[in-house]
Amino acid sequence: MLSSLLFALVSLTTSSVHGYLQGLPEEPAPVVVKCPTCTDRGYVDCRQCNASECSHEPVVFCSLIAACKACEGAGREECTRCDAEPDQTMTERKLAVAKWRMQRAEVDEFMERELVHVESEHFTLTYDIKGLKPARKKMDIHGGAHLYLERLEAFHRIFSKDLAVEKKDWFGKTQVMMWRSAGDQVRASLKYTRQESDTASKLMGGAPVVSIYYDKSHLHEEFELHQAVLHHVAHCLLSNCFDGIWPGNIRGGWIDGGLAHAYEVDLFDGVRHYCYVESDTMGDFKFGAWERTVLSEVKRGKELSFLDVTSRNTADMTPEQHMFAWSFVDYVRKAHPKQLSPLARGIKQKQPIAALTKELFSMSPFEFHEAWKAWVEETYSPRKKKKK
Ligand SMILES: [Zn+2]
Ligand SMILES: [Zn+2]
Ligand SMILES: [Zn+2]
Ligand SMILES: [Zn+2]
Repeated sequence: MLSSLLFALVSLTTSSVHGYLQGLPEEPAPVVVKCPTCTDRGYVDCRQCNASECSHEPVVFCSLIAACKACEGAGREECTRCDAEPDQTMTERKLAVAKWRMQRAEVDEFMERELVHVESEHFTLTYDIKGLKPARKKMDIHGGAHLYLERLEAFHRIFSKDLAVEKKDWFGKTQVMMWRSAGDQVRASLKYTRQESDTASKLMGGAPVVSIYYDKSHLHEEFELHQAVLHHVAHCLLSNCFDGIWPGNIRGGWIDGGLAHAYEVDLFDGVRHYCYVESDTMGDFKFGAWERTVLSEVKRGKELSFLDVTSRNTADMTPEQHMFAWSFVDYVRKAHPKQLSPLARGIKQKQPIAALTKELFSMSPFEFHEAWKAWVEETYSPRKKKKK
């Protein structure tokens, strides 16, 4: 392989000199391939992996591929038709896969069985849900894992754009664990999120974790699970970006909860999860009715004040405060989209809210409240939101 490369280089250099001397356009040097099987790369795609059901891209790791005996997870095999040496990447890949398998094996050991794990650029997913039926198509565990990984990455793109988060601004990957049994959820939540929960729990910060149980008596439809996962992941991503600081317990509950709800409203048909007891149903608050409710409260002069809502921790907020928090975030996201990122950073850095509204909106908190009110009256519809 090296000799053919050298040959190509030499002939290219000669033809360049020649072309320069003659002042004529260069003829591209003919590339001579000696081994048509591997085109002289020294490796071919692993046949066993190619034949497996895993053809999902782009994925960093998948436990199905990682377990392939033929290629040790490299996805490639040495070419048997020639003696070209494969480059270092194949060995490096094998080592990376082995390291990853060992890390994931710790989870399997703790949970006492072999689980499906997949990993992408921003997420590690341990997925244990059987018979998921998105769009009425039944999926096995492996297929469901890739579907969720794709969904997580798609959401990551939306979030990164909204909050103007660049590659360098992210800390560790977010680890997501999805369980089909409440027992596994309890066990995993205590170990990986450091708090026991039989529904869902999270660990915030630079290496966040979400563990969730697919409780079909609560999350009736498949999209409700999707919605719940994104709600929790929104909290995690906000805590992860820029500084690894979760704003939910430093009186930034309004942006923490407000943003998680904003994605529920925008990507699904309304809010189903709220943060103070994540498993609670919405009680008196009807699904998807927040826009109408906020509008009618504003019209009646009964709305909560911006300063009152923006001084609390996520866990201490009432459902009503959550609803207004959502609307304040909704206003910034839609009417001042460029200010959402510096606002989030400022809150995470504990800057006083009056200083932030002055710096970012040239308003006092009171003026911000009035501007938000006017926007709500102009923008929100009194009619029921259409299902998406
Ligand atoms: Zn070959
Ligand atoms: Zn293979
Ligand atoms: Zn796979
Ligand atoms: Zn929440």
